[in-house]
Amino acid sequence: MGKRYRGAILNPINRNDIEFFQSGFLDVDDNGRIEAVGDLGDAAEGDFEGNLLIIPAFVDIHTHLPQFDVRGTFSGNELLPWLKDYIWPEEAKCADLGHVKDIAERFYRDLIKHGTLTAGIYGTIHESAVCEMIDLMPIRGRLGKVIMDANSPENLSETTEESLEITERLCKKYGDKHVVTPRFAPSCSFESMKKAAEIAHKYDCFIQTHLSENKDEIAWVKELFPDAKNYTDVYYKAGLLGPKTIVGHAVHCDDDELETLKKTGTKIAHCPTSNEALKSGTMPLDKIIKFGIPFALATDVGAGPKTSMLDVMRCFLNVHGSGHNGLRNSPNVSPVSALYYATLAGAEVLGYGDETGNFKKGKSADFLVLDIKVVSGEKPDEIIRKLTHESDYDSIVKEAYLGGRKLN
Ligand SMILES: [Zn+2]
Repeated sequence: MGKRYRGAILNPINRNDIEFFQSGFLDVDDNGRIEAVGDLGDAAEGDFEGNLLIIPAFVDIHTHLPQFDVRGTFSGNELLPWLKDYIWPEEAKCADLGHVKDIAERFYRDLIKHGTLTAGIYGTIHESAVCEMIDLMPIRGRLGKVIMDANSPENLSETTEESLEITERLCKKYGDKHVVTPRFAPSCSFESMKKAAEIAHKYDCFIQTHLSENKDEIAWVKELFPDAKNYTDVYYKAGLLGPKTIVGHAVHCDDDELETLKKTGTKIAHCPTSNEALKSGTMPLDKIIKFGIPFALATDVGAGPKTSMLDVMRCFLNVHGSGHNGLRNSPNVSPVSALYYATLAGAEVLGYGDETGNFKKGKSADFLVLDIKVVSGEKPDEIIRKLTHESDYDSIVKEAYLGGRKLN
């Protein structure tokens, strides 16, 4: 039986290539798997109203659930004062499970509304809060308890032992749905980072952390870990880097650090809206592509002011683009590449590449029906640019399907 969905269809293949079906169909089987995707051509006339675009659901590989309510709140701060003024007080609220339940439900609803159906998420230090956040998750994703056993405010501090015990319990309970999450080097002792890496390897879990986001942060890391060659070396020495490790930002990494990321197989979460908001700098995109380090796009809410991946794609095109409103004239940046980095690339980085991210027979039917008119003869770059630069992010996602099941 199954079900057929009709519309124009964009299907990302890689950074440069995309399939486009003007009169497309997407066949989903009874198990919520993709059966076929293609074009009906002239046979389409008669049974199709048009004005709909089907794309794979978005993947956001780095976002902070507990920061949802303070997203976009900065007062001109850069990273470190912003953490102190806005983030620590907000995350401390997650000691209250009532607050966690409320914010988690609203956060997930908002992700679905904006078409993000797969995510890599940061929690807080609190064990029961993290359990609640994972148990309530209606989308595909991984989420981690943050480790903060050093240089942290009193109401967000834990002993090294406590922190590691909780981390291990969560890995045991949730398997690789739980991500081992040393927050960033300044909030972790070297011992906790080393042991966290061991726990991740023991349970075959992913690792997520922040790296080289802001110049004051980098100077602080240098002061805290004087024996390390550089920021990346702190994580390298702790054993945290590897193919299942995702580092957020990597804005100021030098060649030696990029070489270390490359040789360990580490992946990068690129968060252009967050980097812009906190004035952190611009990730050296062309260099990272030249080194061959896999990366994908992410909101980094709450430093990223919006949960919409379309907003992140817009910023990606503006920041790295060619000066022609993001339309293709650079080998690495185009609207087609932006869609790839917001879908398939993210799925691959998060370990879901065989499951989601684009339309391939056998993959989970994770897709969005967007309310946008595709004019005959329009090219994928032009259609995607309309989505990023001209659409209303809050209303464009008409329907969102995860495994063939409608979530909105
Ligand atoms: Zn972050």
